[in-house]
Amino acid sequence: MTDLLTVEEHRDRVLAAVVLLPAESVPLSEASGRTLAEPVLAAHDLPGFDNSSMDGFAVRFADVERADAENPATLRVVADLPAGTADDPALAPGQAARIMTGAAVPADADAIVPFEDTAGGLADSLGAVTVLRAPKAVGAYIRRRGGDTRAGDTVLSPGERLDPFALGAAAAAGVDAVTVTRRPRVAIISTGSELVAPGHALGRGQTPDSNATLLAAVVADADADIELVDRIGDDPAGIDAVLARATRADVVVFTGGVSAGAYEPVRLALADRIAFDRVAMQPGKPQAFGVLDDGRLVFGLPGNPVSVAVSFEVFVRPALLALQGRATIDRRLARLTASESWTTPPGRRQYLPAVVDLVAGTVRPATAGGSGSHLAASLARAGAFAIVPADVSVVSVGDPLDVMLIP
Ligand code: AMP
Ligand code: MG
Repeated sequence: MTDLLTVEEHRDRVLAAVVLLPAESVPLSEASGRTLAEPVLAAHDLPGFDNSSMDGFAVRFADVERADAENPATLRVVADLPAGTADDPALAPGQAARIMTGAAVPADADAIVPFEDTAGGLADSLGAVTVLRAPKAVGAYIRRRGGDTRAGDTVLSPGERLDPFALGAAAAAGVDAVTVTRRPRVAIISTGSELVAPGHALGRGQTPDSNATLLAAVVADADADIELVDRIGDDPAGIDAVLARATRADVVVFTGGVSAGAYEPVRLALADRIAFDRVAMQPGKPQAFGVLDDGRLVFGLPGNPVSVAVSFEVFVRPALLALQGRATIDRRLARLTASESWTTPPGRRQYLPAVVDLVAGTVRPATAGGSGSHLAASLARAGAFAIVPADVSVVSVGDPLDVMLIP
């Protein structure tokens, strides 16, 4: 047992090998999912000018501050201000301007009376307006210049992923290009002479290659590009041949062929170039990782499909995000209560495919019969991995657990 690495020891080795990818400037329209390498600073104040938050009338507060239904205030409407107008009409005492949401508030006005607080509403409009309710205070319904952000302020920080909200914020701040890291390029290679393409009729001893499909999807979800997807048998000579086809990749992920069997092509071909270890986790105990002379990171994941899914989450995904300079490289954890009991292997941290109910705050195994790492189809029921500490051998109903949420 003593020769097992902890999950953290192996993960730290992986992350220590990560070298940040270079930065490049891209237009906002192409920046979705990219990671900021430099902050986004507001190009101007936002809002850029005092503007109305309601359709109504721009007024001088003093003219209307005592208005109510019994004592309405009547103002002469001297201007009409649609959104986008550059007009700044002068307002003398007793005068108002009709104004639409988003239009610049005249310099002489200091409050907005919405249509709802006037006798005629929109129909009152041009001519005279009868105000039935006083605005609460000076500044009512005025969105102030710079109230959201000031020119030069940091709107987004390095390490942030440009999700839709972030992209919208950058655009609002007047920015049309951002400096982001390059997307990592990943090669995905399944090993195993038993593997056939999904959909292929199975001969005796054959099984569909599901790992390549799963990995291609999670790699894309980690905002990385797929350089190559390939499948090779158990001949070690195939390993160098495929590495030669994947020279543009930043990361090469092999599945299968890393453990203790007789025909383990990844181990046989790469034992002198990358490390083969055993990690105190279940599934996913055999793990290979190293850096080739040319800088490519190479992962050798154990071939069982659930092992691949877990190993990707625990080791590969954090590396792909770290390559991009992402500030947060871990999935969100929830603290949930077990609603079923199950046994776990002693001395190894378990990552159990799980079903969560975030409203009830509960978690239970996704796969009947425990943690079988070959249960590729049952994995579809899981939306999370329940993390059971290495020193726990039984999870009982009511036990609290950390649960890695996917996504
Ligand atoms: P290995 O790590 O090569 O010993 O493989 C462990 C188990 O995972 C075996 O039952 C393999 O058939 C299965 N396996 C390996 N690679 C894949 C794959 N790409 N898709 C589905 N199952 C696989
Ligand atoms: Mg194999």
